[in-house]
Amino acid sequence: MNRAETGESPLRPGDLEEAAVRLSEQADRLRSRLARNEETASALRADCDLDAADTGAKAVTLRELHSRAETDAALLERTVAALDRLRGGSFGICTRCGRPQGRERALALPHAELCVVCAEERAGERGAGPGG
Ligand SMILES: [Zn+2]
Repeated sequence: MNRAETGESPLRPGDLEEAAVRLSEQADRLRSRLARNEETASALRADCDLDAADTGAKAVTLRELHSRAETDAALLERTVAALDRLRGGSFGICTRCGRPQGRERALALPHAELCVVCAEERAGERGAGPGG
């Protein structure tokens, strides 16, 4: 029997608790990483007595820190939004098509707001670029 398309198991009450724990831990981790990132960045900015080579390296490091912070902040936002959905009872539901994301995906990527199909579609749209 091949029922891959409808083989998604629904979430169970214990799954929601597990997802809540994971999301909270992830949010804490991201918050402390962002705080550390900010400390490192301001320490780098404050440290002005460097020669040109060091300044160049510093700029690269600051840029890296910045892009890492942006990634972390975006993930934190999604994590917090997923916690909201969890409290609101819509966790595990795709925010785009309204279908269940499937238990495995919801547990593996609790911060994901889209089902696999929509996530792939969006990735494809991005890959194709604007226009059309
Ligand atoms: Zn969807």
